[in-house]
Amino acid sequence: MPDNAYETALRQFDKAVHYLNLKPGIIDYLRIPKRELTVNFPVEMDDDSVRVFTGYRVHHNTALGPTKGGIRYHPATTLDEVRALAMWMTWKCAVVGLPYGGAKGGVVCDPKVLSVRELENLTRRYATEISVLMSPQGDIPAPDVGTGEREMAWIMDTYSMHHGYSVPAVVTGKPLAIGGSLGRAEATGRGVVITMMEALKRRNIAVEGARVVVQGFGKVGAPAAYLAQERGAKVIAVSDVRRGIFNPHGLDLNELRAYVATQGTVMGYSKAEPISNAELLELECEVLMPCALENQVTTANADRVKAQIVAEGANGPLTPEADEILLGKGVFIIPDVLCNAGGVTVSYFEWVQDLQSFFWGEDEINERLRRIMVRSFNQVVRVAYEKNVDMRTAAQVYAIQRIAEAVQLRGIYP
Ligand code: NAD
Repeated sequence: MPDNAYETALRQFDKAVHYLNLKPGIIDYLRIPKRELTVNFPVEMDDDSVRVFTGYRVHHNTALGPTKGGIRYHPATTLDEVRALAMWMTWKCAVVGLPYGGAKGGVVCDPKVLSVRELENLTRRYATEISVLMSPQGDIPAPDVGTGEREMAWIMDTYSMHHGYSVPAVVTGKPLAIGGSLGRAEATGRGVVITMMEALKRRNIAVEGARVVVQGFGKVGAPAAYLAQERGAKVIAVSDVRRGIFNPHGLDLNELRAYVATQGTVMGYSKAEPISNAELLELECEVLMPCALENQVTTANADRVKAQIVAEGANGPLTPEADEILLGKGVFIIPDVLCNAGGVTVSYFEWVQDLQSFFWGEDEINERLRRIMVRSFNQVVRVAYEKNVDMRTAAQVYAIQRIAEAVQLRGIYP
């Protein structure tokens, strides 16, 4: 079983290219990242000491346009993880038809134990270190696990200071006041719920009362839970890194939101039973939304997953073996590169608005997002049907085909 996300990404790629008639050299080119940067850099800490941190920025492919992808702050981030996430970004942008290639960044650190000043020092220095790759025309970062609007504001400001004028389009997921977009904060969760609705329709399951379980109550999982509930689903369990909570009658998410705002965790919320993250994944439900990290469903627990639909809010939450087990049980898997593409889609809207200095209303943004997600979902279903493959393979076949076509049309330089 690969617990290495890059190995998972490569195995998925190898499975998908099997259904395409591509030249071996083109396959080799699409299989590996275009460029990888590792930076080791010093940060001044609050106690006057200096600590060296390691960060990465990987560009997987640039055939369709500038690269796009988030920046992760996590103690277990590795170059291989960043490579996998960059590769998935390439497929994701192609699946939803954005003029972008895939990238990802990461810094090996635990943001929870750093002070705000230390985080700002780290972020500004990392942004400077990767500025050889980053620009509105070349590579546009965004938030991921452990980063958010605040870090994006620091990155935008650092880049702007180096240029002597404000460059909002260099990063997305910024606060609204400095060129962020309406609808970006909940866009990934909104996309997860739009695809969930389409999958429910395909399975003839009513959304009213459908039981939803969400692992990871963060930037993706929390909005996905609220929006699923808004559509009539019953959110019966959510979790964070510490623990999960379960109430078979449904959670009061407004009350839970207020609790999390003061306590910083769902743990200890009184109107639900505590459960472990492992137990949460195995709950009886219509929809399971893994919205935390990679490799959550593996050979160790896949045959105990009881959900009828798995909506991958997170990137890479299922190992290839878990995929096979769930597919064998007839589970409808909405693959990450489709399911969580709402975030990069509204990031694209943010970039377009920044470049034009012309901002759109929230209804327009949400409606454009809905159209793109529904169209992409149906396209992937069509490929799955035509090639007789699962949804993940179909999404990757569709994406790889688009990028291979772009590479061939552009030609091999010189
Ligand atoms: P986040 O840091 O805001 O939230 C992550 C959540 O997962 C937190 O609640 C955290 O406590 C929980 N968590 C962490 N480790 C866990 C574990 N081992 N078990 C259970 N819960 C755990 O991050 P996010 O931005 O919501 O990203 C979550 C996932 O979604 C990642 O895979 C990310 O790559 C993917 N994603 C994010 C976006 C985005 O716009 N933020 C877009 C597409 C995909």
